[in-house]
Amino acid sequence: MEKKEGWKTLPEGDILEGGSSLKFKTGNWRSSKPIHHPEKCINCLLCWIYCPDGAIKVKDGKIEGIDYDYCKGCGICAHECPKDAIEMVIEKGMEK
Ligand code: SF4
Ligand code: SF4
Repeated sequence: MEKKEGWKTLPEGDILEGGSSLKFKTGNWRSSKPIHHPEKCINCLLCWIYCPDGAIKVKDGKIEGIDYDYCKGCGICAHECPKDAIEMVIEKGMEK
């Protein structure tokens, strides 16, 4: 029987310095884009709590918009919003 490689024989991967996430603008990974509709929003901040990328911008306890430099378009904010105040739309150029 062939002996399989163990973890000790794997090559080392890249290691990034801590606190470097601001340098990597991940917005261009996006195929869908969240659109915030302030007229429906009750500023419950659930979207801000759930966004895995910290891309919901809040000022003085109110949603100010979405930081498209870092939003990856996962849609969690729209899914969690109790008022349908965030709509996911297909990014330009990503239509089928
Ligand atoms: S979850 Fe919806 S209603 Fe709540 S703050 Fe976000 S957009 Fe507004
Ligand atoms: S789509 Fe995802 S990454 Fe973008 S703002 Fe909503 S929760 Fe955050």
